[in-house]
Amino acid sequence: MTPIQTIGIIGAGTMGNGIAQACATSGLHVVMVDINEAAVQKGIATVSGSLDRLIKKDKLTAAEKDAALARIKGSTSYDDLKGAQLVIEAATENEALKVKILQQLDTMLPANTIVATNTSSISITKLAATTQRADRFIGMHFFNPVPMMALVEIIRGLQTSDATHDAVKALAEALGKTPITVKNAPGFVVNRILVPMINEAFFVLAEGLATPEDIDAGMKLGCNQPIGPLALADMIGLDVCLAVMNVYMAEYNDSKYRPAPLLKEMVAAGWLGRKTGRGVYSY
Ligand code: NAD
Repeated sequence: MTPIQTIGIIGAGTMGNGIAQACATSGLHVVMVDINEAAVQKGIATVSGSLDRLIKKDKLTAAEKDAALARIKGSTSYDDLKGAQLVIEAATENEALKVKILQQLDTMLPANTIVATNTSSISITKLAATTQRADRFIGMHFFNPVPMMALVEIIRGLQTSDATHDAVKALAEALGKTPITVKNAPGFVVNRILVPMINEAFFVLAEGLATPEDIDAGMKLGCNQPIGPLALADMIGLDVCLAVMNVYMAEYNDSKYRPAPLLKEMVAAGWLGRKTGRGVYSY
């Protein structure tokens, strides 16, 4: 397999530009594609600002920043992805959109190009089945903010080949990340454990066992978590947490995944967390 030197990225949003930064600062060439020039430029500006913060912290020199940015080519044309050995799809979380993008990639990428998706919730096996390269398709689930977060979950669909898995695992390591290999299932590993824990915190809150502050302090100080589950729910978005629980409930058909009524109630009220100024806490 050709060594991975050029990465194509679909989507210049939160995750796409974070992945672009991680690749470019590791010496890889990047082609980052979005639907319009404004989205591409916004993604590149975000990388530039993020690299400036690293310079301020003495973690990067101005010359290293310039070199990293020079390795990122922004584009609105999928044709520019032809030279990439791996294309990572990090577009909006919408199954129909992702299927459309994957089919578009299939028609123009060389047969040996690996395609990865950064989806948080869509089945890798199911997406693989919509492509002509199911054995060269895999999940590469980065965490936000990508340049800071050490983990990459590598999700094997039922059809993913060992060669594809090994190439993507080696890439994650080359980016300075720690990969874990996971079989395809709703929530993969991290969110499968994390989101039900957050849901349980809403049950605990509704039962009046402790104040929000004490629930969060308990999990921070007792479990060494950097942030408590309720404050984390406010960051993620209560609507996102609820949607994830609904997926687990539907997919596993197990009552242990029932969403906490208080979580549902707060979402119904429009108290979605930081993004609406009010969630469990007020902002
Ligand atoms: P985002 O909304 O910030 O960015 C998505 C980008 O995709 C937008 O810039 C949009 O214009 C672009 N896009 C839409 N259709 C496109 C197309 N046809 N071609 C090219 N670009 C297109 O979203 P995000 O938070 O970066 O999420 C991207 C993916 O990463 C989703 O699948 C999401 O589930 C996953 N994810 C997100 C997080 C997170 O914390 N944000 C964490 C892990 C995984």
